[in-house]
Amino acid sequence: MPAADYEVVIGLEVHCQLRTASKMFSACGYRVGAEPNHYTDAYTLGLPGTLPVPNRQAVDFALRLALAAGCTIEPTSRWARKHYFYPDLPKGYQITQSDHPYATGGAIEIPDPAGEGPLASKPIALQRIHLEEDAGKNTHLPGEALSLIDYNRAGAPLVEIVSKPELRSASDAAAYMRELRTLVRYLGISAANMQEGTLRCDANVSLRRPGARELGTRCEIKNLNSFKFLEAAIHAEVRRQADLLDRGAALVSATLSYDPQRDETKVMRSKEVAADYRYFPEPDLPPLHIGAEWVAAARAQLPVLPWARRRALGGLGLSDYDVGVLTAERELADYFDACLSALAGDAATGPTQAKLVCNWITGELLKLLNAAGLDIAACPVTPAQLAELLALLAADTISGRAAKQVLAQLFAADAGEALSPAQIVEREGLGQVSDRGAIVELVREVAAAHPDQLAQLRAGKTKLRGFFVGQVMKRSQGKANPQLVQAALAELLAEGD
Ligand code: ADP
Ligand code: MG
Repeated sequence: MPAADYEVVIGLEVHCQLRTASKMFSACGYRVGAEPNHYTDAYTLGLPGTLPVPNRQAVDFALRLALAAGCTIEPTSRWARKHYFYPDLPKGYQITQSDHPYATGGAIEIPDPAGEGPLASKPIALQRIHLEEDAGKNTHLPGEALSLIDYNRAGAPLVEIVSKPELRSASDAAAYMRELRTLVRYLGISAANMQEGTLRCDANVSLRRPGARELGTRCEIKNLNSFKFLEAAIHAEVRRQADLLDRGAALVSATLSYDPQRDETKVMRSKEVAADYRYFPEPDLPPLHIGAEWVAAARAQLPVLPWARRRALGGLGLSDYDVGVLTAERELADYFDACLSALAGDAATGPTQAKLVCNWITGELLKLLNAAGLDIAACPVTPAQLAELLALLAADTISGRAAKQVLAQLFAADAGEALSPAQIVEREGLGQVSDRGAIVELVREVAAAHPDQLAQLRAGKTKLRGFFVGQVMKRSQGKANPQLVQAALAELLAEGD
């Protein structure tokens, strides 16, 4: 039976580092990318006599995530010690929430390509979300009998989001990770950058015969740190398991790593079970209580969530693709909304305006931002400026080409300059000639200068229409409104009939 004939079952355990100023259980600061071992203190290093104090901000961030995902918030959750011996863990145990997580249930919506209608999605149910502390980072130097340890990350706050085994393909898994990344960034609780390790995941993979109800034996691929490797690792693991099953060999539950060079998953050890970690309740911490008031306050902090924004933009008649681009980042969606409402003033916004704003943001503006290496948050052009520019364009005061020039100038202007698009149009003489009389005059001049071509056009050589429009544009130095030129030319030809 080839791999394609098995049903693939995947559950993800995603670790997301919270963007707090200090660590999970101590006042020690931390920052990604700092010099190794800059952020340590007695607690982080596991020195005797130190005690943990939970970080309220971390719990608050975690709470926002759980509410956004529709989880049940457990009023009482408990901390436990998970033991293992490794140099990245100075205390010899990690404080985590095992049997009593702060959040259970909930779901993340992922795009459903097989679903009906635009923006079709399917929910992936969550088992739980829990809080824990991160470990340090080991660097094994290739070819040397030496490993380096950086404790900056040790003790950093993490949420672990555990899905039910409801993902059915590598692309489902990647889509789920993308949704989570978008969500935590919207919430402002994590940088969620896979390259930097502030978002990472373990993928549990099993296969079963189509129609089977029982889950197959699973293996867990550890530490996937890019979308590309996540998908590639799942494909590789499906190949490995399908091959074993085809041969009737026993599939043993194991912990694996993915080797990108060989594009293979490799067994590191047989799968550890809870007992291996010698879990026991953390004696130095009381249970965590999250009361109704705290929940209400956290709920009040929630921004408009990505799926709500998608629905709102979809309702403006934008394509799925456009909606996807505009809502990928909260700041971009904010920019779009601000620009559209500035353009519309108090009037209701219509699909034409939405499409116009969308085209200019996803086209010219993102191009300028990319070229300058800037995020939308640092965009030198304000939404109000772009709206004013688009109003000039919509009123035919300027041509599309002139609008691009004005946008480039706004983009390059010094922050203090505060130029308005209208001022630039004036200064650069970019105004479009939309004076009908002037354009009719220009068309007549061009016709008089090219009597032969005019005769041929009249005789039916319609290709020459472009020639005349081109000549008029040239005489007007590109400023004539092309629609009006077309209309004036049509009138002239009609006269001759
Ligand atoms: P552990 O903590 O030992 O890794 P859990 O039962 O908490 O075990 O499950 C962890 C993850 O494994 C979850 O995301 C879950 O969806 C997934 N999972 C469990 N069983 C399977 C299976 N048979 N196939 C694929 N994924 C599975
Ligand atoms: Mg696990």
